[in-house]
Amino acid sequence: MSRYEYECNECKEIFEVFLPFGDNEKAKIVCPKCKSERTNRLFSGINVNTKYSSKASPNSCCGDCGHCG
Ligand SMILES: [Zn+2]
Repeated sequence: MSRYEYECNECKEIFEVFLPFGDNEKAKIVCPKCKSERTNRLFSGINVNTKYSSKASPNSCCGDCGHCG
């Protein structure tokens, strides 16, 4: 499973969605608040906000980005 963060275009609600790998492109994400399908993915990744404080320097591999692990 992978975590994605979405923002609703209608009510600006920001919410998290968990999706299986490889299935996220075709998934229809519906706002949990207003049920709108007009949602934007803000970014993909796992625990994006929490990694920087504890691991590595900004100039080196983070080990968790999925590209340089
Ligand atoms: Zn909404």
